[in-house]
Amino acid sequence: MLIAAVPSSASSSGAMPIPALFDCVALRARLTVSSCAARWCKAADRLPEPWDSLSRCRNCPIGARHAGIEFNAVEAAADAWRLVCCRCLRPSERLIRGKHCISCYNRDREARIGKNAKGGRPHLTDHLGTCAVAVAAGGAVELITAHRVTGPVEVMVCAARTAKAGVTFGRPGRTWALPIDSAASTPDKD
Ligand code: SF4
Ligand SMILES: [Zn+2]
Repeated sequence: MLIAAVPSSASSSGAMPIPALFDCVALRARLTVSSCAARWCKAADRLPEPWDSLSRCRNCPIGARHAGIEFNAVEAAADAWRLVCCRCLRPSERLIRGKHCISCYNRDREARIGKNAKGGRPHLTDHLGTCAVAVAAGGAVELITAHRVTGPVEVMVCAARTAKAGVTFGRPGRTWALPIDSAASTPDKD
């Protein structure tokens, strides 16, 4: 929302024009359109760290408009999903195999070998299973069956990352809650 415009008398009197300001809700700040555009371009050029306020500008539709860039909601959504762990959904700048944050990867590894750092049975072992999700995109439907996952959300987030168009998810049947034998389980496709 524009809250200050260049006064019509400013240019005629020769005074310096007052730049238009707007309220950025995401940053809870008031700033100029040009600084918003600059922030958006900077965030698009290099991936900001999750704790950097610039991360709020990445994929922001307002910033895109101020920068004169056509906003692509599908690409923005896919990009946003690329920055979170498929399992815990926490932002992470480093994802092992493009899926899991370090913590989830380590817990998953413990479940694979059936032993945690204290030598006990990992809690996660009881929560991994096989899940099938139907993914509809561009008029085609693909069935994705994933093993050793915590649920359909994990599968959907992985699929959303590579989306080139809007996708719809469905569950073809309940294949969930199959007990996993860590020795016989099928490793995920990377
Ligand atoms: S790009 Fe979006 S979040 Fe960043 S300053 Fe502009 S409006 Fe705010
Ligand atoms: Zn995680």
